[in-house]
Amino acid sequence: MSDTYEGAALGKDDVVLRTNGLEKAFGGLVATDDVSIEVERGTITGMIGPNGAGKSTLFNLISGFYDEDAGHVFVNGEEVTDMPTHERANAGLVRTFQTPRRLEGMSVREAMLVGAGSQLGESIIPLFFRGSDVTQQERENLERAEELLERFEISHLIDQPSTDLSGGQMKLVELARAFTTDPDILLLDEPVAGVNPTLANDIKRFIRELNEEGQTFLIIEHDMPFIMDLADPIIVLDQGRVLMEGTPEEVRNDERVIEAYLGG
Ligand code: ADP
Ligand code: MG
Repeated sequence: MSDTYEGAALGKDDVVLRTNGLEKAFGGLVATDDVSIEVERGTITGMIGPNGAGKSTLFNLISGFYDEDAGHVFVNGEEVTDMPTHERANAGLVRTFQTPRRLEGMSVREAMLVGAGSQLGESIIPLFFRGSDVTQQERENLERAEELLERFEISHLIDQPSTDLSGGQMKLVELARAFTTDPDILLLDEPVAGVNPTLANDIKRFIRELNEEGQTFLIIEHDMPFIMDLADPIIVLDQGRVLMEGTPEEVRNDERVIEAYLGG
């Protein structure tokens, strides 16, 4: 693995996530074009851009769901470019999906335990019937899962089959699951897309509280008032490239940004 850390202005302790020259093409279409970004520890960094700008592709490259054509990804200064997704999660990087995948046949409790990365996948049913055989680790994972559900105010859903949840409830379960591995940086892809305004406000409050406790976020969001209110700085992508980065105020007033959105 090469280390191409190029003496950025911020030391590696201040930067949780760094990409260097990330590229990805689908056929002739360059979806991600030489993208180099940094996410500073402790921030809620926003990512916006018109439809098709390459935001989700970039998340897929950062989290290892797509293979890059070129470029590098670093988490806490460590290169993770060649790691599979679960190893990146262990390195501290976790992401959620724009459309959360439903875990067929699993209750919320089971989905949370699978999220804990505890190899409980196959032994999940025994866990609930073995009683006293439950290991200390399994007990801790279950306690952690229950705490997280409480934190996101969805304790009452613990026995629900995932397939019965509403879109909004699924978003909350997805958020709660993301925290089971205690990430250093959490990437959220459109956390309030298709969510009613009350729930969107709850999600905003959860993100703020977690950030006040030190959690770093990188958030893609189409809802402008939501992201402008929550994130600083904001990175703007357009046609696969970083168009600009700045405070919400700077982004709002930038001619290039206005043009990118109007020009569609
Ligand atoms: P955004 O999330 O900003 O709306 P995407 O990253 O989803 O944009 O898409 C960027 C471009 O890449 C789009 O033109 C999209 O059609 C294309 N694209 C994304 N994923 C794939 C894929 N798996 N196969 C082919 N084209 C894709
Ligand atoms: Mg997208």
